[in-house]
Amino acid sequence: MRILELKDIKKRYIIRSKDKNSYTTVEALNGVDLNIEEGEYIAIIGPSGSGKSTLMQIMGLLDQPTSGKLLFLGEDISQVSDDRLCWYRKNYIGFVFQFFNLLARTTTVDNVNLPLIYQRKSSLDKAKSLLKLVGLENRFNHVPSQLSGGQQQRVSIARALVNDPAIIFADEPTGNINQEQSREVMNYFYKLNQQGTSIVLVTHDPRVAKHAKRIITIVDGKIVSDRLNPDFDTVNNQDLVTSSNIDLNFKSLSISSRLDLSKNKKKTKSETSYLKSLINPTFLKENIKVALKALFTNKFRTSLSILGISMGISAVVTMVALGEGARQSIKAQWESLGTNVVQIRRNFRASSNKGGASNSKYSFISEEDLKDLQKLQQKLPQIEAISPELSGSGVIASYQGNSWSVSSFTGVGEDYKRVRDTKVESGRFFTQKEEQERQRVCLIGRTVYENIFKNRINPVGKYIYLTVNIQKKKKTIRFSSKFKVVGLLSYQGSDGWQDKDDRVLIPYTTAKYRFLGGGGQKLGTISLKTRSQEDLELVKNRVALQLATRRNISPSMLKDEKELPFRIQDMTQMIERFSSSTNTMSTLLGIVALISLFVGGIGIMNIMLVSVKERTREIGLRKALGARRQDILFQFIVESIIVSLLGGIVGTCIGVGVSLFVSLWWLAVVSWWIVGISILFSLFTAVLFGYWPAKQASRLSPIEALRYE
Ligand code: ADP
Ligand code: MG
Repeated sequence: MRILELKDIKKRYIIRSKDKNSYTTVEALNGVDLNIEEGEYIAIIGPSGSGKSTLMQIMGLLDQPTSGKLLFLGEDISQVSDDRLCWYRKNYIGFVFQFFNLLARTTTVDNVNLPLIYQRKSSLDKAKSLLKLVGLENRFNHVPSQLSGGQQQRVSIARALVNDPAIIFADEPTGNINQEQSREVMNYFYKLNQQGTSIVLVTHDPRVAKHAKRIITIVDGKIVSDRLNPDFDTVNNQDLVTSSNIDLNFKSLSISSRLDLSKNKKKTKSETSYLKSLINPTFLKENIKVALKALFTNKFRTSLSILGISMGISAVVTMVALGEGARQSIKAQWESLGTNVVQIRRNFRASSNKGGASNSKYSFISEEDLKDLQKLQQKLPQIEAISPELSGSGVIASYQGNSWSVSSFTGVGEDYKRVRDTKVESGRFFTQKEEQERQRVCLIGRTVYENIFKNRINPVGKYIYLTVNIQKKKKTIRFSSKFKVVGLLSYQGSDGWQDKDDRVLIPYTTAKYRFLGGGGQKLGTISLKTRSQEDLELVKNRVALQLATRRNISPSMLKDEKELPFRIQDMTQMIERFSSSTNTMSTLLGIVALISLFVGGIGIMNIMLVSVKERTREIGLRKALGARRQDILFQFIVESIIVSLLGGIVGTCIGVGVSLFVSLWWLAVVSWWIVGISILFSLFTAVLFGYWPAKQASRLSPIEALRYE
């Protein structure tokens, strides 16, 4: 069976000058014709620079010729894909390199096992048995730097044998070892050939070439002689006697039996099964091991990248926690006002000349509206309570020389206690009579109480002063009035935004006619409570109809809510309006966080590019030994994922920590989904920023990568 057929193979190297304007060419191979049959043992000799290595790389499918035809097992390889070449390399070819090309800091067993990993047939036992075969049974856990040159070359022979190759290419295998070791290596080759493996070796040393059956001489890229070696048996037998006892219990598979095997394989192998092979647990484990090793070798660099990513992730976590906290507290604040409460207020956005609301008298909510609604309540049992709400600002409460600026001051109706479920700790709410008579009575919250009643006496029945600035005829007048405290409002606490106990309630009639001034018909807001949430729609519609009737707005206009002079909203609608503004804030914070994550991602990309550059030779070697593009891609993606994931974990911890710390003062809510999302985010960053460097790595041509210095 013919393994290789070369017809008029030429290889031209183009070397560009530094300024890239001119170039020189080297004709490394100048028309080589050569056939290699199964079971041959060939030595290629020639002076240095004659093209031996170039020829070897082309025959070993590591490099493509510039022109000519090369058939490997009958297939024209100029037409086949990168992955098909890789498939040939990994199933039929073993390489022994002049400079061994073992992975540094990797044990001999792992080095020998390497080609098997890419066949998804990882077997440390097989690696060990081959190391035994080359006499290294006591060196399983040595790394290359702990071995002599000869031993390293023997490891690389073991590695070349591990995939049961049909043909072994050895480029100056004895070039870097002493004579005795070289004799030993040559004996292994002889034995291997006796067992059926084809061997092609390159050497410039005629003594080494003497071991081969067929000797090809190449000068200036051309074969000048091709002859059988008459001394083949004598040389090898002599050496075998003198050298140590080598027992090669190794049997090469015949190519015809492999071909059947490969045909079967070809049928079943599809891209999806290839994806599955990436998820293969041993392969995954191997890649994680390799990545961890690479990351550990550069601890400082790795920590910096982890730091970069963790900054981004922690920013995301913290920002989301703050945004969520703000959202929840605002929501809670609104909900505390009651979920089946409807608020009726003036619509400031409506253009006043439309919708029959041209009469400015009707543009605001008036006391007549209140009366109408109270009448409506009698017909509509779904309405539970109604109360106007008039708020004043800049009100100061004082008692016996202690004063306090009240943050929430509201004039309300007697029914307010039902609308807002207002509880009184001591005393009582004001009565309907007090409301009608515009009496100066008030209820105070705990904060107000504690700040003006320093001696903590029961405030009920005491008189306090309320002071307000009112505008009258463009002048500001300070107006003070004495109020009787009728009740102390129950403690409510803070919702993270405001102190809900810093408030004073008085009858709205008093507020309107005796305190805040402004008289007239205007009412700020009317709040209304329905019996249940199911009643909301009905009540809202009826209220709208009622308000529209007074304003001569035809019911058909009611659909255009934006143009109506009034707004009728329940709390859910208000929560929605409010959350849209907090959402804008969250989005802004989110963008800031994403930018920092992006910066972290660039850090990852940077370290991955460096990592790929540094390990170019390693990548070349892996590809030469049968790693497909996807295998290399996967290896680097795994590495980038590990960095990002570590960054993600660290970042999440920092983010959660910061959020918890911040939540001592400000509401920040860490939900578990944030943690999940941020981990996903770091994975996404890893793939996004790791993909390109990994792709670069996977595209490297094996031979160029191996030549890389
Ligand atoms: P040998 O192995 O016989 O010593 P090579 O095959 O390595 O020779 O090289 C043959 C010729 O091609 C030499 O003149 C060398 O300078 C040139 N050459 C080899 N590799 C390259 C390369 N990657 N780029 C440019 N020229 C090269
Ligand atoms: Mg060479």
